Amino acid sequence: MTKLKPPVEKNTYYDVIFEDLTHDGSGVAKIKGFPIFVPNGLPSEKAKIKITKVLKNYGFGRLIELYEESKFRVDAPCPIYKECGGCQLQHLSYEGQLIAKQRQVQDVLTRIGKLQDIMVHPVLGMENPWRYRNKAQVPVADREGGLVAGFYQQRSHQIIDMKSCLIQQEKNDLVVQTVKEICEKYGIQAYNEKSNKGTIRHIMARYGLVSGEIMVVLITRTKDLPHKNKLIEDITNQLPEVKSIVQNINSKQTNVIFGNETTVIWGEEYIYDNIGDIRFAISARSFYQVNPEQTKILYEKALEYAELTGEETVIDAYCGIGTISLFLAQKAKKVYGVEIVPEAIEDAKRNAALNKINNAEFAVGEAEVVIPSWYKNGIEADVIVVDPPRKGCDEALLQTILKMKPKKVVYVSCNPATLARDLRILEDGGYQTVEVQPVDMFPHTVHCEAVAKLVFNSRG
Ligand code: SAH
Repeated sequence: MTKLKPPVEKNTYYDVIFEDLTHDGSGVAKIKGFPIFVPNGLPSEKAKIKITKVLKNYGFGRLIELYEESKFRVDAPCPIYKECGGCQLQHLSYEGQLIAKQRQVQDVLTRIGKLQDIMVHPVLGMENPWRYRNKAQVPVADREGGLVAGFYQQRSHQIIDMKSCLIQQEKNDLVVQTVKEICEKYGIQAYNEKSNKGTIRHIMARYGLVSGEIMVVLITRTKDLPHKNKLIEDITNQLPEVKSIVQNINSKQTNVIFGNETTVIWGEEYIYDNIGDIRFAISARSFYQVNPEQTKILYEKALEYAELTGEETVIDAYCGIGTISLFLAQKAKKVYGVEIVPEAIEDAKRNAALNKINNAEFAVGEAEVVIPSWYKNGIEADVIVVDPPRKGCDEALLQTILKMKPKKVVYVSCNPATLARDLRILEDGGYQTVEVQPVDMFPHTVHCEAVAKLVFNSRG
């Protein structure tokens, strides 16, 4: 068979119509069926593009001129949108983003999951999709005698100063700016990646949306933090909601943010926050969802899909700090949570005790190892909830689910492509996907969260 030659060449120009949006926010145009990915192009737009790279099965292009704009195109409100790269969809109206995300889920379920006529509901979006993030992690650098705190310019190690981030809680912007200025006042030097010298590497701020409590984490190269007591005094005077100041020491020459040593240098070890009726203790290193308002909506949907009556045994695989488990425990007879990070399981146990929940048990380990061993020991679930990382569920876990045959599987996913792959496996094993509800946890970014309800189909 002769190899087909791509129908386009590098550095040539074409007039195209974008048909689709990729999962990373580029427009997709097809030239004689050959897909070209073009940053900043939106579905339905007519444009002139220049081909910048050609691979075997697809290519890349640059937007040269827009002839016809999408009705959903808007001016990105953030002045540093292009340099930052933290958001990818600000040039698309929020309405347009929700439509695109619903379509993306629908497309992969059909294309990868081979699921026909699957009910994908309109995305549950935010009423006000700005200022939602409860955690800021901001790198610091020296510049002209002072400090800058902001973000790494795309494809560089240059830190650009940022006074305000439109998807960040305003309180976190204030905390980062204030702490930066206090560090500057006492002449604290920023870490320099090249020389591996200097003190302050990152400033992290965490804000409890319901409690109003704030945690400040100073990530430093050295254990020695010059003017520590003055820093603490100024931070607590200027930011009265701060309940906890923590130092994390990272002496390695690396772009990994955190080191292994964490000490509370003032106040409490935890701040508290609530999602629905459940209270969470959040430490400096705990995983906690960054959009608590939408997290509540996501978990309520998972709970609704689980259809608990109070009699069920439930397994929550990939349980993190037990957030979903504790939500489910209120309505189930017993919940078993499993998670690979030991500290997260410690948090889960503490959070269960904090909420006086006695019917949840937690284990450390790989879900694909622990759940089969539970099954061997006679633990069977009526409902299994899974909330895996982007790579989806391990095949061994899916096979155990197919053996255990819980009446329902509730699949919470942060990656529609692996969701589709895994739903296919469960469908082939006798489950039926009843409905899928995408929830927008990360407005203005390409990330897309969805929850699927599956029931065991005895006819299958
Ligand atoms: N359900 C939680 C966390 C979901 S994030 C919440 O909503 O907050 C996915 C979690 O899976 C992470 O906490 C990660 O540490 C964990 N994880 C990753 N691989 C795992 C595995 N093989 N077995 C169990 N947990 C795993």
